[in-house]
Order: sequence, then structure tokens, then C-alpha cells
Amino acid sequence: MPLTVNVVLPIPLDRAYTYHLPDPMTDAAQVGCRVLVPLRNRRLTGVIVEEGPPADTLDFQVKDVIDVLDDVPACTSELLDLTKWIADYYVCSWGEALKTALPAGTTVESQRKIRRTNADPGDWTGHDVGRLVLQDLHEHPTTTLSAVRKRLGPAVPLSLIRRMAADDVIEVETTLSDEAVSAKTETHLRFAPAFQHREAAADLIEQLRGHKQQAVIRALAGFREEGVAEPRQADVVERADASYSTIRSLVDKGMIEKVDKEVMRSPLDDLPDPEPPPDHDLMADQQDALNAITDAVDAHRYGTFLLHGITGSGKTEVYIRALMAVLKQGRSGIILVPEIALTPQTVQRFRSHFGDQIAVLHSQMSMGERYDAWRQLRTGRARIAIGPRSAVLAPLDDLGLIVVDEEHETSYKQFDPAPRYHARDVAVMRAHLNEAVCVLGSATPSLESTMNARWGKYERLPLPERVPDSSGRTATLPEVRVLDLTVQRKKHQLDGALADPLRNAIRQRVERNEQTILLQNRRGFAPVLECEDCGWAPHCDDCSVTLTLHRGGGRGQLRCHYCGHAAQVPRQCPQCGGHDISQIGVGTQRVENELESVVPEATVLRMDRDTTSQKHGHHQILRRFRNGADILLGTQMIAKGLDFSRVTLVGVVDADVGLLFPDFRAEERTFQLLTQVAGRAGRADLQGEVILQTRNPDHSAIRYATSHDYEGFAEEALAERRQLGYPPFGHVATVEFRGPQEDRVERLAVNWTTTLRTHAGPVEVMGPEPAFIQRVQKQHRYRTLLKSRSGGAQPLQTALRRSRKAEGTPPNGYHVAIDMDALGLL
Ligand code: ADP
Ligand code: ZN
Ligand code: ZN
Repeated sequence: MPLTVNVVLPIPLDRAYTYHLPDPMTDAAQVGCRVLVPLRNRRLTGVIVEEGPPADTLDFQVKDVIDVLDDVPACTSELLDLTKWIADYYVCSWGEALKTALPAGTTVESQRKIRRTNADPGDWTGHDVGRLVLQDLHEHPTTTLSAVRKRLGPAVPLSLIRRMAADDVIEVETTLSDEAVSAKTETHLRFAPAFQHREAAADLIEQLRGHKQQAVIRALAGFREEGVAEPRQADVVERADASYSTIRSLVDKGMIEKVDKEVMRSPLDDLPDPEPPPDHDLMADQQDALNAITDAVDAHRYGTFLLHGITGSGKTEVYIRALMAVLKQGRSGIILVPEIALTPQTVQRFRSHFGDQIAVLHSQMSMGERYDAWRQLRTGRARIAIGPRSAVLAPLDDLGLIVVDEEHETSYKQFDPAPRYHARDVAVMRAHLNEAVCVLGSATPSLESTMNARWGKYERLPLPERVPDSSGRTATLPEVRVLDLTVQRKKHQLDGALADPLRNAIRQRVERNEQTILLQNRRGFAPVLECEDCGWAPHCDDCSVTLTLHRGGGRGQLRCHYCGHAAQVPRQCPQCGGHDISQIGVGTQRVENELESVVPEATVLRMDRDTTSQKHGHHQILRRFRNGADILLGTQMIAKGLDFSRVTLVGVVDADVGLLFPDFRAEERTFQLLTQVAGRAGRADLQGEVILQTRNPDHSAIRYATSHDYEGFAEEALAERRQLGYPPFGHVATVEFRGPQEDRVERLAVNWTTTLRTHAGPVEVMGPEPAFIQRVQKQHRYRTLLKSRSGGAQPLQTALRRSRKAEGTPPNGYHVAIDMDALGLL
């Protein structure tokens, strides 16, 4: 290594910083290692991306690297290249992209520690804020600036602290907060060397008088008989029914010893061993698809395949076999699934084939679990990563295959913070960089992927039929019935949210002991409360949205779905004093309520963000449904990846919910959601039925979902996109401006957009305009929309990068969020 290194930092600036590498570190430092470096008055964790220029050629003073944090580079050169591509494509800094590739919680950032000195406080006792600070430091002798600010409010400016420090009244030290995660160890026990002989245990027991102590020795001997020479202390304590103090006294006597062992935390620990894998022959379509994939795998040739197969057509089976081919070559693989599909069911299926070669990554894991999974992958102990979005950056060498299941899912796009990447597109690029294969699977592919297949960029592999059941029968697609709510109302068959035909169908299923899935894509009880006299409706103080009524606790509660703010339900209208406050619209709780009177004897499970917020909440509800509850009612989370054999009815309470959104993807989303949920009904031996309630029966998304006609939908939607220059034919991006003061946000937006226009070239720039939801959590929002009808993404990226450079960093507290290939334009 030369004496300087170029380091990229997790800050939104497009540049690397050069640091001098002090002598003792030159061996440890390699490209890809994390280093701790000073930047102005902070210390930051960065990544070495390349050798730096010789120090004597630089015309500025380079600072020293403070520490090298890795002995093995955290970032492989392949991930350095990939994150560089992400930064270029999504117009963010390389450091921001790199941060996504490192396990959360391992970046060390600086913190200011402050404490009181012995010096005479002098005039500061007479200073309003200064006196409070001194008082606070007296009560909290070791503390941090942020903690002081939290206690005293933000009115403690850094400049004041600096002045107090200059007077020596306080001392400010920039230190590191400890790494938030590290390897975890667990205490194990074993006999001390002198007592390791088998007979020694019996002697020990005789020597000891205490029952508890004897029991510990007996337990330890027992474990040894079972082949566990060093059992976990906790297991010994449990088996001996002893206390930790008993253990300690035996350790003090020198009879037993404690050993700390590193443990790998894994969410798989809670799961039972999986069933042995089924061993069936593939269906002809599956085999054709697999052959196409393995041909490319065997040839080490890049290729992206679009596996277009309806639910239950055997896509997962194809992924598994493709992975087997990849592992056989000694290469590794990544399986991306939407978070919601990452149920134990899915994991178990892969585990039954690949066992401990799998590391699972997901957001409900503790930081420690995530860090361990990351290390298993980085060290090659695990060769397969399964996880949502961010798993696309899993640190695997020799990647052979990346699968993106349910590739149309919007959760693959990251929104905040930067990089605002789309995991599917990153997967395709990563496969390309590695001469690997990418498989995109879906029953309702995104219009982008369908068009890429038509253009020949991807190869489409259709699986048009469901896999037959064990008796050889194939399930037919369920009959879809559309209930026009306008007509139902006229016929007096609509009282509440469920029209009579849907009510009857539900009752019938409960009587026949079959199961029903009901979709209502809105949580809470009623989305809006409104005063019938004056039209007043409750709004969130911090966000420009109405509050949703939730049931529970007396008259219920009003909640903001953007920031979580909760308020009491007013007895009377605060504007006119009226008492007639009506509840408008239908949320999942209201449907649940209605079901209580329609089918009082039924067990109803509600699944939405309110009932699944706890760890495993989602999984528990699904287990109860599998164990026989009658009705599963919920938001879109019920539409995904579930496979139940006794569901013969799927009801959609309000198919129009998503159509009302003024977004060019609203129709596509609605079509996908309805098609996915409809796919849940019926199996070979039980004919399924789908009932869709709508006020727009002629809408194309609803018509095509009703006839299970993906091609028809795609044809019509693509024609419209082409005409308007929207993706997949053009590219779009948004720039969102956020901050606490509306006039300043507006000014920022106007200035930025003016700059954008000067760099626009062929790009259309629209806006700025107040965002669809103008205020979220007290932050005002404006946005500008960019569209490029031809020339790919590049004209947009160029305009954005130049403007970003020209405009520089926004003022403190204000944000500019560039969203390349934005999914929503609101
Ligand atoms: P998808 O991922 O497309 O929804 P799956 O791969 O989960 O489909 O297959 C649906 C069901 O059919 C699963 O229970 C699976 O074990 C079974 N299955 C898949 N392929 C076959 C096959 N070739 N023969 C028998 N059963 C199969
Ligand atoms: Zn009123
Ligand atoms: Zn709010």
C-alpha cells in the first residue's frame, strides 16, 4: 500500500477524500476496508476505494487515518463496482450507496461528549441558558451534547457550547459512540482440567455438601455423556435447577470453568427442522424454463429471465432447482422476496433443500442477527442469502444466480434515505457484472419487465398452468363475479360495506366449513369523520391529511396514518358545536365489525399494519388461519405469497380504493392486487369463487382482472404509456424538497427547478408544485417532475447531477430527495 488512500464517506458529496496512512496501519489497510477518519470536527467511518496519490504530490495537508476497522475488507471489489454504479445511476454519492452494502449499525459516527471542568464558572452563572447547561452537567457528570439538548430543548446552540468551552468552563470531546453491534458471546461451562476425567465427577459429588452444587456437577456430567463437553451455562442452570451463584461458587472452587463462545444469532433458531424436500418430477413447462436458466448458468453467461407464471404454477420449484445447479458449480445465490412473503413457510421451503447454507436477512431481525447473517455470507459459511430489497447487496463471492420473486412488488424500490434504488434493476445489473443469471418471477409482471422481454432484453419463460395436485387434477382459475355497488344500492341490497350477495357467500362458506379471504385495502374503522352541519373534518396538525377513526378504548381514537399522532374523538364539532358527526368510508375494523353481525359464529382474523406491528404478529395470524379460522380479513398484505387449501371464497370489499390515486401506475397496481388476491381462491378439489365489489365495473383494471387477462391488460396499458412517454418507454424522476418552513421550501424548490431547466436539454421539467400530501410530520413538501421520452435514463441523470452540483448542499434542516425512476409521482 502507498502512504495515502482515497476514502469515500457516507455523506451526500460526490467525492473521495485523501488521507495519509500512518506506518503501523499500512499492512492492515486494503481496498474495501472501513477506516475511521477525521472530517472537519467529526470522525466518520468511510471505505477505502483506492490507493491515493503520493503524499508529496499533493498541495494540501492530508490528515491521518485514525484507525482501520476491518482486517478483512468489508466491501469486496465487486460490491465497490456495484455501489459505484448505483451512485451513478440513482444520482447519489458513492458513500451513500456503500452504506447500504454494509450491515446496519457498524458505522461509527462521532458524538460530542461534554463535561464540566473545575474552572470557576464566572459570568456564566448569570447567563440564562449557560446556567441551565451548568446545572444539567452537574446532574449528569458524563453526558453528550445531544443528550443535553434533549433535556434542555434545542435552544442550546453549539456556538454557546463553544464559547463556554473557550472559557474552559466546560470541556468538549469528540469521541466515538461504540460500534452499535458486535459479535455476541455466550457463556459455556466445562470441568476444570484436573476434573475432566470421567470418574472425577463422582468424587466431586461426594466432596460437595450442597444439593445444588451436586446437581450442577451431575448436570454437567450428564451433558458430557450426551457428547456435549461444553454446554451452555443457561442449559446447565436449567437442567440442575440451580442458580448462577451456585455456578459462581463452583468456578471459585476451581472445579468448573467458564468459556465464552461466539454465537451466531439467527432467526432460524426459532424454527423447527424443516420437512424433507419433496422430490417430484418437474412439469414440462417447468422443465423448459429450468433448462433455459441452467444453460446460461452452466455457460457462465449473463442472462435475465422473466418467469411469468400464475400463482401455484411452480415458480418456487424452478428457483430451487436453478439454485442447486449454481451451488453445484461452487457459486452462490441470492433470493429476493418482498418482506411480507418472507414468512417461515417460504424460508422453510428453501431450508429443506439447502439447510445451513442459507442466511436470512430481514428488517424485523435485531441488528445483531443481521450482522451475524452478514458475516456468515461474507466469510462464505453461508452461500445463499434470502431477504428483501437490501439483500441484493449481500456480500457473496462468485455469485451465480439472483432470483427476484414477485418482481412487480413496489417494496423493491427504496424511498428514504438515498440511494433510492430499485432492487430488481440492481439485481439485473449485478448479474450482468458477474456473468450470472437473474430470474424475475411474477404472476403479474411489471409493465417494464414485460416490455423488456418483448424488446429481447429479457427472455420470457411462461408457466401458464397451475401444478396439478397429488390426484393429478389441475385447479382451474376461479370464477370472478363483479358486484356493481351502485346497482346493489338501488336494489336495496347494500346496507353497510358488504352487499347481500357477498354476505350470503360468506355465510355459506362458514356453514360448509370452508375459508374466506376478504380484502379491504384500508386500515382503521372509518377513513374520515365529517360534521354534517358544517363539513368540518379532523386533520393532523403536522401532516396535511385527515385523521382516521380507529375503534377501541371508549369512543375510539383518531390516528394519523402518516406520523402516528393520536387524538381523542370530539363529542361535538369543534367548529360549529354540532353533534352530527358522521363516519365516512370503510376501513378493515369496520368490516370486522360488520362481520360480527353477518356471521356471529365465525372466527375472523384481521391482518393489517395495526395487528402485525409486533415481531411475528404476521406469522401468528397466518398460523391461526391455517389452523382453521373462518375468515382472514386484511389490507394488501393478505394478497401475497399465501397458500391455503381450504379457501374457496375471496371477497374484495372495495376494488376502487387504489384507482382513486392520481398516479400513472394506479391502474397497474390495482390490476396486480386484484389478480393476486383472486389467485388465492380454490384448489383442484374445491372450486373457488371471487366476488369483487366496485363502483367502476367498466374500468380496464377491473375488467381484465375479472377475466384473468394479463396480456389484454398489458396491451392496453402499454399503449397508453407509450403515448404519454411514461415508463417503460421513457424515464421519470422526481425531486422532492422538504423542510420546516413553507416559504423557504418553496424558494428552495423554485431555485433548484430553475437550475434544472437550464441543464434540462431534452428533458421535460414540470413544477415545482406542492406535493400531493403537502405536509408530513411538520415538513412541508414540494416536488418537481422530470420526464425523458427518449434516450434512456441518461439525459435525466445528467440534468440531475449538474443541478445537484450547481445547487450544493441545502440549508440545515432542508432536504432535496432525488428519486430516479420514481414509482410514484406524487
Ligand atoms: P409458485 O411459486 O408459482 O406459487 P410453487 O413452486 O409454490 O408455485 O408450487 C405450488 C405447489 O405445487 C407447491 O406446493 C409445490 O410444492 C408444488 N409443486 C411445484 N412443482 C411441482 C411438481 N413438478 N410436481 C408436483 N408438485 C409440485
Ligand atoms: Zn360542524
Ligand atoms: Zn400526522
